[in-house]
This record gives sequence, C-alpha cells and structure tokens, in this order.
Amino acid sequence: MIEVSNLKKSFGALDVLKNVSFQVEKGEVIAVIGPSGSGKSTMLRSLVHLEQVNGGSISVDGEYLVKDGVYSSQQGIKQVTAKMGMVFQHFHLFPHLTVRENLELAPRLVKGESREDSQKKGSELLQRVGLQDKADVYPANLSGGQKQRVAIARALMMNPAIMLFDEPTSALDPELTGEVLQVIKQLASEHMTMIVVTHEMGFAREVADRIIFMDHGEIVESGSPDQLFHQPRFERTRAFLQRSL
Ligand code: ATP
Ligand code: MG
Repeated sequence: MIEVSNLKKSFGALDVLKNVSFQVEKGEVIAVIGPSGSGKSTMLRSLVHLEQVNGGSISVDGEYLVKDGVYSSQQGIKQVTAKMGMVFQHFHLFPHLTVRENLELAPRLVKGESREDSQKKGSELLQRVGLQDKADVYPANLSGGQKQRVAIARALMMNPAIMLFDEPTSALDPELTGEVLQVIKQLASEHMTMIVVTHEMGFAREVADRIIFMDHGEIVESGSPDQLFHQPRFERTRAFLQRSL
C-alpha cells in the first residue's frame, strides 16, 4: 500500500535520512523505534509532505507523492497526502475552537462537507474515543490524554486510509498514556493501516505486526516483534533495546 524507496533528506550538511526504504501492506501496523535524532519524525513528516525530501520515492496505492526525487503536481500531492491522517506528540489542536469545531473544520473547509454530515461524523468519532460529553469544551480544559484522543478523532474525520502517529503518548503523564494507546489498539483491531513512532516497547510488542528499528537515518533492521526483541540481527539493535527495555 505504502512504498518508500531510497528516501534521502538532509538539513544542511546533516544527512537525516539515508536511503530509507520500506513497504507497508494494507491493514498492517508498523511500530518505528530508534534513538533520539535517528530520523523517525523526519521520515513520518516526509510521508505527509511536511518535509521536502532530497531524493527517493514515496507512493501510496501506486500514486506517487515523489518519484526519484521529483514531486508530483499540487493535485497529485494532495491526492496522496489526503490518504493519510497524522497525530503529533503535542496534539496541535486549534486552541480557539471547541472540540466539535476542531473536528469539523477540515471536512467542511477542505472537503466542503455539509454541516449536517460533519456534525454526525463528529459525534460518532467523539463517541468512539469516549469523549461525547466534551464536544463543546475548549482544548485548554482537557487533560493531555483527552486532547490526544480529540486529535485522533480529528484525523479520522477525513477518512484516512492510513494513520501516522509520532510519539502520541510521549507528552503525557504515565497514567494518561493507557487511554490513548487503547484508542490506537482499537483502530488496530479494526485493521486500520498505521505507522506508529513510539518509545512504548510494550505497546509496540503487543500491537505491531512489524517493528522497524532506525538509527542514524537508516533502517537498521525490521521484523516481527518476537524476532526483533528476542533475536535482533545487529548489535546496534541489541544495544538500543537493552537501553530501552
Ligand atoms: P526524537 O526521538 O527525539 O523525536 P527523531 O528520531 O524523531 O528523534 P528527527 O526529529 O527526525 O529525529 O531528527 C533527525 C535529525 O534531524 C536530528 O539530528 C535533528 O536535529 C535534525 N533536524 C530535524 N528537523 C530539523 C530542521 N528543521 N532543521 C535542522 N535539523 C533538523
Ligand atoms: Mg521525533
């Protein structure tokens, strides 16, 4: 479904992504792990065109965002990025809009959905993340876990085929991570295709079909949770896991 090949990205003299290649099948849940600065966020951000890469290809269902370093037309870029919803570590909710307004803004503005349709979908999704009673509240009056669940619902409003999560629980107090991971688990059980950058090794092990380990801008190895946690092929992976588990 997603095909990434030979992705290259540098910031000045710093090579942040060095020939990153991987594929994601429909319905697969991928966890991406790796040390700070290894390029995990840059890789995710490249997929949704928040970063412009310097080389390589990204395609979804055969449609290219970028092919051999050359970007598609504005229209082509929109078509590919519209298939993906992204959730960030720091929520990025609009502070001046209520929860309901946060959810309904993009469908109404970008897709021209009717008020009725977006309201209906908004209520359904709030129910799904357990926040039906918070529709008219402003983000400032929510806990971190609640904010992140709103951010997930907001991404789902656009009916993405793929969900990308960049350390969705890293900004949360430990007692609030569970409620967010629960929502992501629920999506996994519904066979949503997902890429989750995470430091939560237990969660990665439990939910991911495959784990990708990145270090210094490269995918060092990838494999099933069992294989990667119990029989890592490379010393770099072993050393990272030893530090993290
Ligand atoms: P973390 O686990 O801390 O979130 P990460 O694996 O997500 O790390 P990235 O955020 O992708 O790492 O950063 C990879 C490297 O690129 C780091 O060295 C970072 O300092 C650098 N970098 C990221 N964004 C920029 C930018 N806009 N300008 C310059 N350097 C950047
Ligand atoms: Mg990051």
